[in-house]
Amino acid sequence: MATQAQDRTHTEATASHVDVLIVGAGISGIGAAWHLQHQTPQKCFAVLEAMDSFGGTWVTHKYPGIRSDSDLYTFGYRFKPWVGPPIATADEIRAYMREVIEENELARHIRYGHRIHSASWSSAEKQWTITGTKGEGEPFTVTANFLWMCQGYYRHSQGYTPEWEGKDDFKGAIVHPQSWPSDLDLSGKRVVVIGSGATAATLVPAIADKCAHVTLLQRSPTYFYPHPNSNELADRLRQLEVDEAIVHDIVRKSILFDQAEITRRAMEDPESVKAELLEAARAYLGPDFDIDTHFTPRYRPWQQRLAFLPDGDLFQGLAAGKASVVTDHIKRFTKTGIELESGNLLEADIIVTATGFNLCITGDIEFEVDGKAVNFADTVTYRGMMFTGVPNLVWIMGYFRASWTLRVDLVADFVCRLLDHMDARGAKKVEVALRPEDHNMPLLPWIDADNFNPGYLQRGMHLLPKRGDKPEWMHNQDYWSERAELPLIDLDDPAFHYS
Ligand SMILES: Cc1cc2nc3c(=O)[nH]c(=O)nc-3n(C[C@H](O)[C@H](O)[C@H](O)COP(=O)(O)OP(=O)(O)OC[C@H]3O[C@@H](n4cnc5c(N)ncnc54)[C@H](O)[C@@H]3O)c2cc1C
Repeated sequence: MATQAQDRTHTEATASHVDVLIVGAGISGIGAAWHLQHQTPQKCFAVLEAMDSFGGTWVTHKYPGIRSDSDLYTFGYRFKPWVGPPIATADEIRAYMREVIEENELARHIRYGHRIHSASWSSAEKQWTITGTKGEGEPFTVTANFLWMCQGYYRHSQGYTPEWEGKDDFKGAIVHPQSWPSDLDLSGKRVVVIGSGATAATLVPAIADKCAHVTLLQRSPTYFYPHPNSNELADRLRQLEVDEAIVHDIVRKSILFDQAEITRRAMEDPESVKAELLEAARAYLGPDFDIDTHFTPRYRPWQQRLAFLPDGDLFQGLAAGKASVVTDHIKRFTKTGIELESGNLLEADIIVTATGFNLCITGDIEFEVDGKAVNFADTVTYRGMMFTGVPNLVWIMGYFRASWTLRVDLVADFVCRLLDHMDARGAKKVEVALRPEDHNMPLLPWIDADNFNPGYLQRGMHLLPKRGDKPEWMHNQDYWSERAELPLIDLDDPAFHYS
């Protein structure tokens, strides 16, 4: 006879109706599943994932050297100690996620190879109907009381490559890091990596020894933070045989404290933070390196994510002459490389376009509420989690400046509290709506470009929900204030409508 646990396992693996449907098995979706299991064990839930594996970002990206650019004490979940070096490879992050899945028996909730195409809310039935395809294109339908979007923020199928004149003339290979060919042979090749973000900074040192030469071609410089890939406090606590859960907690707090400090200083006194970052670069690159041209950004530190360079690897490669950096604008591609605005020519056999992502905020799912198509750009966000006119839906958009996952834990606490609150009220539907005092509020773009302005957000701002000018109606990107505010949200505030 089947045990209760076996029955439940079977039901969750195949159920055509669930209490909560999680979209995506990336670091957000797996975190969401853990929280549901621990905080609302009475809820039946499923995770639908388009790919054949968990990991999301850490599966899609397979380029050489792929790693985190923030530390895993904060990119890891608060409930699962990180025991490795702070900066981790994609494989290490997936191994960590695998442990979370195995230790908590989450696999029984996950349906791989399920791509969702549409989600339709019915106020009469008070549920979502989700359709998609699985396997070889076989259609499926699942209904759910609540939809938890953990779809990430960019389109996994294709990265962003700008149109350049003459691109088709180039005789070599053009590769985007998001779809790195496993058989790409770099030996003896001259490689140009276009881009200046974390991906380019990771790739260049990772391939410097494998090709004839690699050039980092950037339009404008980025701030980098070179630091050994170790954490002194963690090492010391481990030497003292402190329990790993305590090490995780203390090191996390210490890193967050330091980050809060640097954020504060970067906003209050950007010039001195800038000077420190440039000085750190100079320590690796030497006094003769043209830091003014190549590593002195025009923006203020922290207006974009500060990319960590473990052991200053990019700078070491440049200093050793294995790699070089060119700061210039592309005029056109030629048969043999790239012609720059300065008139210089960069000869190349392979051009890597580390030029970013295509923003995709809804996992390419067509949304409908009571038969009417939803355009998220017409909605107003409740704290970057919920949206006016879209009931029973929360999404996770993590932090861009701090580790993304810090927000996964915070939003998960909110969702579990909201689900419990709905049960306590006997409500089947929750929706956020502007309160009378909000009606004259200016509706602004999702994020203030002066505060944070990476290219993919600038390019996709028209797709994103609107923000107001009150804390309730914006995603403020500030972990330190949200850490205090989100747990205190009054779920009976007039912004929440239950039925
Ligand atoms: C190369 C790279 C390095 C990064 N490094 C860091 C870092 O160090 N620190 C940091 O804080 N952030 C980093 N980020 C940002 C990073 O994307 C997030 O931190 C995090 O991994 C996002 O996790 P996620 O689960 O929210 O989304 P994703 O990792 O994007 O996963 C979303 C999942 O949802 C699935 N999905 C989407 N649509 C559908 C659909 N319609 N049906 C079914 N499934 C669907 C996808 O297949 C995917 O598996 C990095 C991003 C990149 C690209």
